[in-house]
Amino acid sequence: MPGYNTHRFFNYVVFIAVAILLYLWNLPAIDINLKNILALTVGFYIGTDFITPDLDIESTAIKRWGKLKILWLPYKWLFKHGQSSHNIVYGAIVRVLYISLILLGVYYLLFKSLPSGAITPSMYVLIFLIGITIANALHVLLDMLF
Ligand SMILES: [Zn+2]
Repeated sequence: MPGYNTHRFFNYVVFIAVAILLYLWNLPAIDINLKNILALTVGFYIGTDFITPDLDIESTAIKRWGKLKILWLPYKWLFKHGQSSHNIVYGAIVRVLYISLILLGVYYLLFKSLPSGAITPSMYVLIFLIGITIANALHVLLDMLF
């Protein structure tokens, strides 16, 4: 299986190549504005470097969480490596839900209420999540190739 940096290299090369192609083709159907691109890029970065399918093992990705890697311990127990965590469709969704529930729990403990944005997610949150999902899908594709 490809290592952490191979995954990062592959993801960023594909991302930049697709970005250049979309720019060159100048597709009118795609709503390209700076905020959308930023939301997608940040999601893609998080999905490539932090919320990766390899959080189910003692990987470089999980080490990058530092002390916070303890948050992923139950996840590692729940999901066997290379199985549902590497599902191309719901692998990323499960990880995002998992970490979101933890973050919401911490927020609730601190402020005794939930953030209003959590109930009605904005368009940018959706684009951000698409970025994570695409990054995770590329990871799974590369795993399947090697
Ligand atoms: Zn993997």
